[in-house]
Amino acid sequence: MRFPLALTAKIARHIIKHKVKRTPKFAMVLQLEPLHTCNLTCTGCGRIREYSTSLKDMMSLEDCLGSAVECEAPMVSICGGEPLIYPTIEELIDGLLHQGRIVYVCTNGMFMRKKMKDYLAKDFTIAREPLVQQLLAEKLITEKDAEQIRAGKTDKKVVISPSKWMYWNVHIDGLEYTHDLIVEREGVFKECVEAIKMAKILGYQVATNTTVYKETDVKELEQMFEFFSSLEVDGHTISPGYDYDAAKKDMVSRLGKKPEDFFLTRAMTKQKFKDIQKWGERFTIFGTIVYQEFLAGKRELTCTAWAIPTRNIKGWKAPCYLMTDGHYAGYQEMLREVKWENYGVVDGKARDPRCENCMVHCGYDPSGALGTNYQSGDNWKNIKFNFGPKPKPYYAGREVKAFNGVSIGKGHLAEAKAAINSPRALANGLVPQAAGSCGGTSNPERDDLLAKIAAKKSE
Ligand code: SF4
Ligand code: SF4
Repeated sequence: MRFPLALTAKIARHIIKHKVKRTPKFAMVLQLEPLHTCNLTCTGCGRIREYSTSLKDMMSLEDCLGSAVECEAPMVSICGGEPLIYPTIEELIDGLLHQGRIVYVCTNGMFMRKKMKDYLAKDFTIAREPLVQQLLAEKLITEKDAEQIRAGKTDKKVVISPSKWMYWNVHIDGLEYTHDLIVEREGVFKECVEAIKMAKILGYQVATNTTVYKETDVKELEQMFEFFSSLEVDGHTISPGYDYDAAKKDMVSRLGKKPEDFFLTRAMTKQKFKDIQKWGERFTIFGTIVYQEFLAGKRELTCTAWAIPTRNIKGWKAPCYLMTDGHYAGYQEMLREVKWENYGVVDGKARDPRCENCMVHCGYDPSGALGTNYQSGDNWKNIKFNFGPKPKPYYAGREVKAFNGVSIGKGHLAEAKAAINSPRALANGLVPQAAGSCGGTSNPERDDLLAKIAAKKSE
């Protein structure tokens, strides 16, 4: 079947339990941000800009685990910042798994191999030697790494072990050239690919996490799916990026440009995602079939942002992962206090102007699972989709020229930095070389970069 039975059953049980109890609003996925510090400064990153913090500003392990208990979401997506920087990330993952949650670790991939080497070294026995040999043969670890692994790890610290309840969810926004330009560091795509290969050899589950922007080349997206499918990645999360930010109004009023010059509007999103169901036949795209129909412009959905709450150092962020109108001390308090009827788009009308172009998964994917805009036949469609055959790995994807940037000797950071430091970027209040976007926001600087990529490709 398309998704593992145990995971599907756990989520179905959760929904049925609350439907029987007639709970009006409940959590499906907790977006947990233990910290906002990151080792990268991706162009357009909303998180590192909105919450400019240092390592000392982070949630305690107890708060992290307590927030999952508090909202009872069966799935927890640990994001940030870069969650692998969180000093007790191993204990956090372990604690959430012990609570019976499905855990997604949303990472930029740079520290994955280190964490997996720790796993191999922990209680090393000769039985693991074939794995070490395979990793050496594939050049995913060095001889020195192998020696350290064989020496073993004797401390009591827990490690991140493979589990059917856990996914590495690796941020990938395109093939090498595009991705490294967006994350503003050469070599990141290559590191992600090596980390994914190592994870698959060791038996971890891996997903990729992609945000689609106005300049995203849909053809490149398909090649990206083909390439990662050939690496036997288990699934793909994909969501449209958009911007509701004050920067939008500012750019429009000062520069006299139309919003659609910069941002992915609803119409553009539908155009970009018109083939998502075809992609879903070839690749394991995460998300409900109903949400995919919504993205393709075939139906409307009502925003259910309360079902994917975000918890961070400041509290429960309302109304959603993208917009911040306040933080609350408790999940139930947030459910009670927020005027949910003031958000989202209903019958084509935005209840809040900032929601106008939003079709992001954290607002609308749960709507599909919860049946908030039920149409006859939806249940059968969902069953057919979930229980249908899982798309097979596309091994011909190995032929995709995924390494089309720095690894073939084309450094490009200078161009990225120039764009970040452009008069337009600075006029928009961007701190030089320190922008970024975890979680689906876009901005003109990012669009500038992506336009440059497109121009470069057509040279
Ligand atoms: S429509 Fe989008 S921006 Fe508006 S509340 Fe829902 S998720 Fe947030
Ligand atoms: S988008 Fe980039 S800079 Fe922002 S948190 Fe994610 S990896 Fe870090």
